[in-house]
Amino acid sequence: MKKLIPIVIASAMVALAGCSGANTASTNESGSNNGGGGGSAAAPAKPSIGVAIYKFDDTFMTGVRNAISDAAGDKADVEIVDSQNSQPTQNDKVDLFITKQVNAMAINPVDRTAAGVIIDKAKNANIPVVFLNREPLPEDMQKWDKVYYVGAKAEESGTMSGELIADYFKSHPEADKNKDGVLQYVMLKGEPGHQDAELRTKYSVEAIEKAGIKVEKLAEDTAMWDRVKGQEKMAAFLASHGDNIEAVLANNDDMALGAIEALKAKGYFKDGKYMPVVGVDATAPALQALQEGTMLGTVLNDAKNQGIATFNLANVLAQGQTPSKDNIGYELTDGKYVWIAYKKITKDNIADAQ
Ligand code: BGC
Repeated sequence: MKKLIPIVIASAMVALAGCSGANTASTNESGSNNGGGGGSAAAPAKPSIGVAIYKFDDTFMTGVRNAISDAAGDKADVEIVDSQNSQPTQNDKVDLFITKQVNAMAINPVDRTAAGVIIDKAKNANIPVVFLNREPLPEDMQKWDKVYYVGAKAEESGTMSGELIADYFKSHPEADKNKDGVLQYVMLKGEPGHQDAELRTKYSVEAIEKAGIKVEKLAEDTAMWDRVKGQEKMAAFLASHGDNIEAVLANNDDMALGAIEALKAKGYFKDGKYMPVVGVDATAPALQALQEGTMLGTVLNDAKNQGIATFNLANVLAQGQTPSKDNIGYELTDGKYVWIAYKKITKDNIADAQ
């Protein structure tokens, strides 16, 4: 009985500190679920999980976010917050989760190089953390044994999107519009520094070259994963390179869809004027574009399985268990990584992505 008193006082202090927004990373020595610091008498038995998404206004991450909520159902108390594309905001959200003494966290970092700081905080508070979609640096992943990552191998998606373009060029000789035997392309890149932006850019071009096709980059620019920016950048590429462009590679579907809008404004996709455009993600609007014949292909970035794996892993950790394939339902590589496979999607296998 006596032991309870310091715990109650500590909880009250944590709750107070939470109101003032201070960071009190107190270690939960009891190791038990304290019910989220709400101070209610009947402590819920459910594990509590704090999830911070880099920004809510991202098409792909919205899919992952919904998949996490769906997977959670009423199995756990999952609080999902918007980091509004600001690392300081996300750090504050992490501090709040720690103050509330959640049982596990799932973090989609704004800046993946900031994962180290988050791991230090989590370790101090002994709260396991699952990162998703933005892969922490390997040295940060080694900082603590209760750190995990759920994502997809970026290079795989790059290779697949390059292969989609290569296959098209091989089966459509007319795609080499100026008949110089070289594929003139433009690249719409995601956020610089993001592993998916860097590696998709590199591996997509390498895949085309590996298929025996010579390439020439006419232009490359970042459109920050964003549809409107994709449209603006593509309009600029068209203004300077016009019909010399023979293919558009985009690191994600939103930017590819933006490019398609810019191309439409220049008369493409009607009266036989065509441009092969590829993206990554297989979002619903991209599948629609495949159906309409404006997008040549995309690569399924499996939001649903990434969301389920993130939840299962966080939920197992929140209950103090050691994750394994048996309790999370996904293979764990090197004891820390869950890799969800990509898949090439064209008009012929749209159903595989639905
Ligand atoms: C997706 C992008 C998304 C980004 C967010 C990537 O894996 O392909 O669509 O904007 O993750 O981090």
